[in-house]
Amino acid sequence: MKSKHIPQRSCSVCRAKSDKQDLIRIVRSPEGRAVIDIAKKLPGRGVYICPDLDCIERAKKSGSLAHALGISIDNNFWPELEEYIKNFSVNVNLKIRSVLGLARKSGILLIGTDKIADFTHKVLVLCASDCSEGVKSFAASRENFTLDMNSEELSEVIGSRGGVQIVGLPLSSGFAKKIMSLKN
Ligand SMILES: [Zn+2]
Repeated sequence: MKSKHIPQRSCSVCRAKSDKQDLIRIVRSPEGRAVIDIAKKLPGRGVYICPDLDCIERAKKSGSLAHALGISIDNNFWPELEEYIKNFSVNVNLKIRSVLGLARKSGILLIGTDKIADFTHKVLVLCASDCSEGVKSFAASRENFTLDMNSEELSEVIGSRGGVQIVGLPLSSGFAKKIMSLKN
C-alpha cells in the first residue's frame, strides 16, 4: 500500500521541515495582527513555526516572524503562543500514548530488551525517562528516543504490570512511522 502524501512545511525560524500538521501556522489577520491559525485554514499571509519554545524565543528576539508576516507583533501575542505550544506538546504526548496502546493491543509491541534483541528486523526503541544506564546503552545502538514518561507511566500506558523501561516497534511498521512523525 502506498503511504498517503503528507504535506511538508518549513519552520520560518530554524528552517527544519516537518509535516504541516506538526507545525503551528500563524497568519496576518485582516486587521494586521498576528493570529494563531488553529485549523490551518485561515486565508492570508501565513508562516509556520515549530511547536518549540526555542524557536519562539528566537522568533521573538530576531523579529523574523514579524518580518515574514510584514507586521509588528503585539507583546500580548507571545504569551498566547507559548500557552498554545504547551498544549500542543501535551497533545503530541497523548497521541504517542495512544499509538503505544494500539501497538500493544495489536501484539506488535516489543517489551523489554530481550524481546527487542531477539527481533530480527530493525526496531525503533522508546525508553522511559528514568531508564537505567544499561537500558540507555542498549538503546544507543538503535534508532531510539526517550519518552516524556517514566517507567511507571509507560507500564500503565501499555497495560503492563510495571517496571517497563523500554519498548520497541518494528521500524517498518506504521506505528513506528507514526511515532517518528509525531516526535519531529
Ligand atoms: Zn523551528
